[in-house]
Amino acid sequence: MEKAPIKPQEKEASVRINGFDEVVSCYRQEEALKEAERCIQCKNPTCIEGCPVGIDIKKFIFQIAEKDYKGAYFTIKEKNNFPSICGRVCPAEYQCRKTCVFTKKGAAFASEKAINIHFLERFVGDWGMKNDSGHMTQDTRHMIRGKKVAVVGSGPAGLCFAGELARKGIKVVIFEALHKTGGVLRYGIPPFRLPSDVLDFEINYLKELGVEIIPSFIVGKMKTLDELFKDGFSAVFLGLGAGTPSFMNIPGENLCNIYSANEFLTRANLMSAYKFPEYHTPINIGKNVVVIGGGNTAMDAARAALRIQKIKKLVPSVSIFYRRTQDEMPARRLEIEHAREEGINFRFLVQPVEFAGNKDGYVEKIKCLRCELGEPDSSGRRRPVPIKESEFNTTCDLAIVAVGLKANRLLTKEVPGLKVDKWGDIIVNKETMETSLKNVYAGGDIVGGEGTVIEAMGMAKKAAQALISRFSSR
Ligand code: SF4
Repeated sequence: MEKAPIKPQEKEASVRINGFDEVVSCYRQEEALKEAERCIQCKNPTCIEGCPVGIDIKKFIFQIAEKDYKGAYFTIKEKNNFPSICGRVCPAEYQCRKTCVFTKKGAAFASEKAINIHFLERFVGDWGMKNDSGHMTQDTRHMIRGKKVAVVGSGPAGLCFAGELARKGIKVVIFEALHKTGGVLRYGIPPFRLPSDVLDFEINYLKELGVEIIPSFIVGKMKTLDELFKDGFSAVFLGLGAGTPSFMNIPGENLCNIYSANEFLTRANLMSAYKFPEYHTPINIGKNVVVIGGGNTAMDAARAALRIQKIKKLVPSVSIFYRRTQDEMPARRLEIEHAREEGINFRFLVQPVEFAGNKDGYVEKIKCLRCELGEPDSSGRRRPVPIKESEFNTTCDLAIVAVGLKANRLLTKEVPGLKVDKWGDIIVNKETMETSLKNVYAGGDIVGGEGTVIEAMGMAKKAAQALISRFSSR
């Protein structure tokens, strides 16, 4: 008889919306064993091709089933230094679970029946944390001595790149512009999805490998790339992320109480503004919050806003406006489900066209058009087509715009010869991730792509391997 997929425990929606505590629990041992036993150990495991860093999924699941948790931990660590992070935030339904044999070929996302690879990865990562199993030690067989490499940015790409090099004995210094490390993992993802102590644990692992992290340091302003090379760095990796929010460019978008999702989440997550005045950064909240967008950032912003309403003793009222339907939403299915359970209201096929404000300059209303779906666009998703004369107004005293991010040009415009495309993304050789400048590599959101944590890590690994090969061949 076919075994049902095992879901981990979750906090009740009515409980979890009262704070920022983690929603999904780790599998208990018996749950992990049952889920691991569902894996049929395919002869040709298609799940692996769906993993951007190529984890041997079949092997680590087998090791779980054998209760060899340490073995499973090391199997994952061979390819991914951050199993507890990826187990929590990877969009597995679009990656390894989608290519698992239990998902029908050609499906838009993973079947319910696909093995819960991400929950198993988290189980193993958290087991490693609890048992301090040991951080993967350096690869003493092939050490590279006497090299020093600078990494700009401590987000997923920068951390992954640093880990790969440090394991080879290469001295790595990470320069981070913010006062805390983690980049988008820290400022973009709320603690109810990725608790800070998990992030701290995985980052500490890098420090134990000898990686030095210098916070509050803006490369491009406080030191140029040339100066880094003069300081003795042999190479530089740019893992800058994409920190500039996109807007819709519609009338009224500059009114007060219209946040970019980036700013809203940075205040809430990085600066703990939901604990104001205990923490110094304030955050505005409204009685009727509208979040515009359909990705994970929109879900995170909506769920954070709802929690802040609860903390401030308001009646929760948060809506997500999206131009397409739920089927086209890029957000993880789990996040959509969680948002719905928590009481977020979804309004599909609506496109804001104007914000209107009160006499004090605060947003008060959004004018929208209804849409219908047209032909697929370049992303393969059906294009939203506004319906003529379908205008309507909706009340809103706080809006959060979550329609995407683009490259921050603070550093790239200061580096002569560094080629960028028309969006400001750094152009790289896709095989080596080297930029137009020799010994300057880049990866993650600053070179474009899907914007997922694991994809950024995949690029960083490629860059690290290219640089390690270059060092080894000298
Ligand atoms: S494809 Fe699915 S069932 Fe097959 S080995 Fe991978 S996880 Fe297991």
